[in-house]
Amino acid sequence: SGILDDLTLSARALADYSESLFNPTVRLGVTGLSRAGKTVFITALVHGFLRGGRFPVFESLSSGRIARARLAPQPDDGIPRFAYEAHLRTLIEERLWPQSTTDISELRLAIDYQRENGAMRTLTLDIVDYPGEWLLDLPLLHKSYEQWSAESLKLSRQSPRAALAAPWHAHLKSLNATDLANEAAAVTAAKLFTDYLRACRQEQFAMSLLPPGRFLMPGALENSPALTFSPLDVPEDGTPPADSLWAMMRRRYESYKDIVVRPFFRDHFARLDRQIVLVDALAAFNAGPEALRDLEGALAGILDCFNTGRRTLFSMMFRPRIDRILFAATKADHLHRTSHDRLEAILRRMVDRAASRAEFTGAATDVVALAAVRATREASVAHHGETLPSIIGTPMPGEISGGETFDGDSEAATFPGDLPDTPDDLFGRDGAFKGSSSAPPGETDFRFLRFRPPRLDTAQGEPALPHIRLDRALQFLIGDKLQ
Ligand code: GDP
Repeated sequence: SGILDDLTLSARALADYSESLFNPTVRLGVTGLSRAGKTVFITALVHGFLRGGRFPVFESLSSGRIARARLAPQPDDGIPRFAYEAHLRTLIEERLWPQSTTDISELRLAIDYQRENGAMRTLTLDIVDYPGEWLLDLPLLHKSYEQWSAESLKLSRQSPRAALAAPWHAHLKSLNATDLANEAAAVTAAKLFTDYLRACRQEQFAMSLLPPGRFLMPGALENSPALTFSPLDVPEDGTPPADSLWAMMRRRYESYKDIVVRPFFRDHFARLDRQIVLVDALAAFNAGPEALRDLEGALAGILDCFNTGRRTLFSMMFRPRIDRILFAATKADHLHRTSHDRLEAILRRMVDRAASRAEFTGAATDVVALAAVRATREASVAHHGETLPSIIGTPMPGEISGGETFDGDSEAATFPGDLPDTPDDLFGRDGAFKGSSSAPPGETDFRFLRFRPPRLDTAQGEPALPHIRLDRALQFLIGDKLQ
C-alpha cells in the first residue's frame, strides 16, 4: 500500500496546494490526550475570533487589523463538524464543561484581515480536532509486532504499571505463544491488556504512553479482530510458527496499522500545517514523578512523528509539512499567577529533553502555560496567620474539599501551593525527576478540585470568555499568516 499511499498523498497535497494559492489556508491540528482540554480550547479560540476577545498579545486582532471572522462550510464532507454552537451554549448558559473529544472533527473559520501593507485578504483557518491517542499510534508504523510486544512488556513491568498489569501478566504466563491460535485466549488477553491501559489512565497514575489508542477509544471498531490482540512475551527477532497464537496476534497488529494508523496518517496528519499539543501537566504533577517521566516519553514519541531531520519512516513516506508545533500546558487557572512562568519552564525543560531523546530537528517549537477558559480569580487569603496567594472559583457540584461537599453555587478559595522555582528543583542535577512541592499540609490538593466555568456578565450582550495566555498561543500558531 506504500505506493498507493504516496499517490493519494501527492494528489491530496496538490489539491490542498492549489486551493491555498487562491485562498491562503492553514490547517491547524489540535490534539492532546483525552481530557487535556481540546474541546474547551477550540471553543474559546473560535469564540475569541467571532466575538473579538481580549487578546493583547495576538497582534492582528488587538491592533484592529482583523475586520471580521465567520464560520464557513468545512472542506471535508466525511469528517464530523466540531459542535461549536452546542459547546459554547453549555459553557456560557449552563456554566458546564462541554462534552469531550472522542473522535476527529473539523471547523472552518474565514478571517478577513488587513495586511500590514493595507491590502484586504482572507485567511482560511481549518481547525482539526483529534485525539492525542491517535498521534501516539504513529510510531507503531515502524515497529514490528515483536518489537512492540517487547517494548510494551518492558514498560508494563515498571512501577506503577506493574501492579496494574498483574492480571494481564498472569494470563500471559498461562499462554504459550507458539500453541495453535485460540480465539478465546486472544479475547481474554486483549481484554486484560485493555483493562491495564485504562487503569494507567486513572487520575492517580496519569500515565500518557498507552498505545494502541483505539483500545481506549474503540468507536465502531469495538470487538473487531483489529482490536483483539495483545503483546506476547516473544523474542524480538523471532518468527511465529504458522497458525500459532503468535501469528494470529501479529496479523491483527498489522491489520490495526492498515485499518487505523495508516489512514489517519494519510488522510489527516500529513495534511496539517500547524499543530498545538495540549498537555495536562498538572495532572501528571499530581500523580508524581513516574507520571512526569511517562509524559516525557509520550512527548518524545510525539516529536518523533514530526521529525524531518532523521530518516524516519514518516520522512520517507512523506515529509510532514507541519512547520510550527506549540506544546501547551492547559488549565493554568488552577495555579496562582506566580506559578505560570514556572509551569512553562518545566514544560519547556521536558520538551527539550524529549527533543534531544528523539534527536528532533524539524518544525519550530514553543511552549506556553494557558487556560483557554479561566474559571478562577486570584486573592490573598489569611491561613493560620500567614497570607497565602490563593485562587477562588465555584467548585463543580459534588466536589469535596476539607470535608465539605460543594453544591455548584458557592465559591471556595484554595491554596495552589508553589511549583518549584526552576526546573532544576524538579529534575535534580542528575536529570532524574524529584517530584514537586504541594499545597500546605492538611489541605486537599487543589488540582483535583474541578471548578465550574466562570459566571459572565451578559448585561452588555455576549461577553468575552476570560482566559490566560490564549493570545500568546494564537500569536505563535498563526500570527505570521496574518501579517
Ligand atoms: P478533551 O478531552 O481534550 O476535549 O478535553 P476537554 O476540553 O473536554 O476538557 C476536559 C476537562 O478539563 C473539562 O471538562 C474541564 O473540566 C477541564 N478544562 C479544560 N480546559 C480548562 C480550562 O481552561 N480551565 C479549567 N479550569 N478547566 C479546564
